[in-house]
Amino acid sequence: MTQRLILASNNAGKLKEFAQLLAPIGFDLHPQGEFNVPEAEEPFGTFVENALQKARHAARLTGLPALADDSGVCVNALGGAPGVLSARYAGEPKSDARNSAKLIADLAAHADKSAYYYCVLVYVRHADDPQPVIADGVWRGQIVDMPRGEGGFGYDPHFLLPALGKTAAELSALDKNAISHRGQALRALVEKLK
Ligand code: IMP
Repeated sequence: MTQRLILASNNAGKLKEFAQLLAPIGFDLHPQGEFNVPEAEEPFGTFVENALQKARHAARLTGLPALADDSGVCVNALGGAPGVLSARYAGEPKSDARNSAKLIADLAAHADKSAYYYCVLVYVRHADDPQPVIADGVWRGQIVDMPRGEGGFGYDPHFLLPALGKTAAELSALDKNAISHRGQALRALVEKLK
């Protein structure tokens, strides 16, 4: 039997990526937009609180189990910024190009360019679930000034994987998923849900 599960996002790429691993263990994933769920606020200072808020919001409005993610890039020399503010680092309206430009400018005076992507996934059986299932993933790299690659999104053209000699934007979607923060978190969640 399959279990319907709401994804607290309308991002088609995430839906596809998540459905690929969740379908084999019996979940039938639907984006929250199909149920007219509006985007939840993300007011908190931690990724896990924001993801929990989004998952609860979707579960409450649909009456179904829900899965939410929250992610961002954390730069060590900047004390973990942009962090939970990654999507809107350079303000509204959201812009990957302006966010990356601000990050490069903020880091210019720092020698330490190390950074990591972080992703947390939260699954709730219902809106008041006292035991949400939580999994996370960390992907380490270096911020580079010159963008490289056409793939991915967000900060990927500036996120260098030193061991591969490539930025995240130079990886195929398949290769990125195999090692990324989101891929790691998803595989960890699947193990917990099995
Ligand atoms: P969200 O979790 O989808 O809201 O993503 C938050 C923000 O973090 C995105 O808008 C990007 O700026 C950044 N981010 C998260 N994951 C990635 C990634 O895999 N590549 C590039 N940027 C990312």
